[in-house]
Amino acid sequence: MAQLVLDEMPRRLFTCTPTRLASFEDCPRRYRMTYVDRPAPPKGPPWAHTSLGTSAHNALRLWWDEPARRRTPERAAALVRSGWVAEGWRDDQQSADARDRVAAMCERYTAGLDPTDEPRAVERQVATRTDLLALHGRVDRLDERDGELVVVDYKTGRRAPQDGDARTSPALALYAFAAERMLRQRCRRVELHHLPSGRIVEAEHTDESLARHLRRAESIATDAVAATERLAAGQPADVAFPPRPGPLCSWCDYRRHCPEGRAAGPELAPWAGVEYLAEQEPAASQGT
Ligand code: SF4
Repeated sequence: MAQLVLDEMPRRLFTCTPTRLASFEDCPRRYRMTYVDRPAPPKGPPWAHTSLGTSAHNALRLWWDEPARRRTPERAAALVRSGWVAEGWRDDQQSADARDRVAAMCERYTAGLDPTDEPRAVERQVATRTDLLALHGRVDRLDERDGELVVVDYKTGRRAPQDGDARTSPALALYAFAAERMLRQRCRRVELHHLPSGRIVEAEHTDESLARHLRRAESIATDAVAATERLAAGQPADVAFPPRPGPLCSWCDYRRHCPEGRAAGPELAPWAGVEYLAEQEPAASQGT
């Protein structure tokens, strides 16, 4: 009888974002330092590529907030310049050069958009629940096409997405699942928009492919919960959350606390992830 009562007790849902799940999958030790240890260990210095991504995302959000007549490519460039995040750059000159190149990038990208084609939402929080997860996350843009929602995710890194990346992205699938549930409108199409190259890759999910991504998310969450419980029960941190050294260690915010990670890859300058920008065209306009 006691077991029956336990089985009938509501299970506590695991609150997570796709980023949190990916963090556990990439490296349990990094997950522990990010989400479990309190106070969290201090991170390394800010990255220029994070500043770049934030600046571009913010500018595009503000661009869609403008009235349609002001949504010009020049306005997108001006919004990058006025909201530029100047952390992580080698010096003021590198920051200013990058600002102009990112302004040009957003100018080119918005020149290909119809400013009157109102998205359903921009930087929208979506959330839903399953038997195990309380899932939430922020979608860069939700378009509405032919009566269905489309998840649009902006990418600003060096590497352009390849065919198949949209289909295999757990984050995009979970956003589509959450958006459809929350807004009660079919959402199966997901797109990656790579701002530096203008390349767009897309995928059309099915019930089966979304279910597959969801099962994987629940499996990762189950493992993360089990590891956290083992740690609380006294298992050593490095056993409950082992390090998973690899190429990403050079980019890890916690490598200073991780001997295995430091051995796995070289220390990188905070601006190492943006050196590809020198290959981009600088902005011509200085519009507002
Ligand atoms: S440096 Fe590498 S192994 Fe260490 S926590 Fe970071 S990702 Fe994990």
